Amino acid sequence: MISSHFGHWTLAWASVLNTPRHLAEVIETLDIEWEGAALYNMVRDLYPICRSITGDGLRQSLRLLQRHAPLSLREVASGTQVFDWTVPKEWNIRDAWIKNAKGEKVVDLNRSNLHVVNYSVPVRSTMSLAELRPHLFTLPEQPDWIPYRTSYYKETWGFCLSHRQLEGLRDGTYEVCIDATLASGYLTYGELKIQGATDAEMLISAHSCHPSLCNDNLSGMAVAARLAQCLARLPLRYSYRFLWIPGTIGAIVWLALNEGLLAKTKHGLVLSCIGDPGRFTYKRSRRGKAEIDQVVEHVLKESGSGFDILDFTPSGYDERQYGSPGINLPVGCFMRTPNGKYPQYHTSADDLALVKPSALAGSLHQLLKVVEVLEANRCFVNLNPKCEPQLGRRGLYRAMGGTDNSGLEEAMLWVLNFSDSAHSLLDIAARSHLSFGLLKQAADLLVGSGLLARA
Ligand code: ZN
Repeated sequence: MISSHFGHWTLAWASVLNTPRHLAEVIETLDIEWEGAALYNMVRDLYPICRSITGDGLRQSLRLLQRHAPLSLREVASGTQVFDWTVPKEWNIRDAWIKNAKGEKVVDLNRSNLHVVNYSVPVRSTMSLAELRPHLFTLPEQPDWIPYRTSYYKETWGFCLSHRQLEGLRDGTYEVCIDATLASGYLTYGELKIQGATDAEMLISAHSCHPSLCNDNLSGMAVAARLAQCLARLPLRYSYRFLWIPGTIGAIVWLALNEGLLAKTKHGLVLSCIGDPGRFTYKRSRRGKAEIDQVVEHVLKESGSGFDILDFTPSGYDERQYGSPGINLPVGCFMRTPNGKYPQYHTSADDLALVKPSALAGSLHQLLKVVEVLEANRCFVNLNPKCEPQLGRRGLYRAMGGTDNSGLEEAMLWVLNFSDSAHSLLDIAARSHLSFGLLKQAADLLVGSGLLARA
C-alpha cells in the first residue's frame, strides 16, 4: 500500500518535472498510444450521459471535462434574446419508457438515451398502438439501429427505436411515460481562455449537446479538452479560446453575448467527427483563403496521408454561425468523415466501437501541428532588399562551391526574396514548394544575423 502511494507520488512529480516547455517538444514527445487511450477513456466516460442543448446532462458532461481542462461553466437564462433567437426552456429527463399490456418495458430510456426524442415534453398516458405510432421513429433501412431525433423548438414528444423493435410490437394498449421537465432555467456552456503573448485569439469550438453519440461529437469535446490541456502551460503567441457549446443555439448565444470580443478572433476551428478512422476532411472558412485555411491545408498536405478539402457551405456545424455574413469569422471545420457521410451518423451505431483511440490521438496530433504552424507563420521584412546580401560573409553560405544538401541556402534565398511584409512563410512555402519547417529555420537564421525582421 505504502509503496503504491509512493509510486503515484513519484509519477506525479516526474510528470511535473518533465512538463515540456515548448510546443515543438510536446509534439515530438507525444505518446500516441497513451493519448489515444486517455482520449478514448474520456469518450467512454461521457458516452452514457443524456445530453441536450440545456440541462443537467450537459452540465455533468462539462464538469467531467473539468477533470481534464480548467474550463468554466457559463449559465444563460431561458428567455434571453440572442440575435433572432431566444434561449429555450431548460430540459431535464429522469425516465422514459413504453410498457405493453403485460407491463413489460418494450422501450426503455435506461437502455439507450437515444430512445426518447430529445426535448420531448412530459407525457403519461395509455393509448393504442395506432395512436402511439405517429410518435415512433425508426430507420427501416438500418433495422437494428436507433435513430437520433430532436425537437428543440416545437413542443412535442416521441420515441426512437430500432425498426426490428417496432416490428415486434403487437396491436394492443401501451402505457407511455416521459418523465421530463421543460421549464424556465438556463443554457449551459463551457469556456476556457488560455492567454498568450498577444490578445489575438484562435477559437476552438466543439458542440457538446448530443446524447450517446461518440464520433458526433464526444470525439470533438474530448480532443478539444486535451488540446487545451496541452497548450495550457506553453509560451504561446496567440491566445486560445475553447468553447464547448450546444450546437447552433450555443454558438448564437456566445456570439451575441461576446460581440465585443470578435475583433480579436483571428482564426478558428470547429472540431467535430474526429474519432472515426476515416481520412481528414477540412471544410474551409467562409472567407475561403483565410490564414487558418492555408495552415490546415498545409498541415494535411505535410501529413503524407490522404485528405479532403471542402469549400464552405452554410450547412453543417457551428461554422454556419461563425461564418454568417454579419459575423464572418475565419472559422473552418476540422473533421475526419464528415457529418452525413458515414452510415452510423445520428444513430445508435455512432458508438464506442466506431471511434478508435488511434484516430482520436491522430486528430490531436494534427491539431497540435496546426497550432505549431499557425504560431510560427508570419511575414518578415528583408532589411537588405537591394540585391542579395552577402551571406558568405555572415557564415550563412557555404564557403566552398558544391551542393547544399540541406536546402537551407535555397530556403534563405526564398525567404529573403519574398520577405516584403506581404508574404508570410506559408505563402513562401506554397510558392517555393519548400517545407514550412525549413523556411522557418532559414527565417530564424536570417533574423539572428540581422538580415530579416518581423513585419
Ligand atoms: Zn450531429
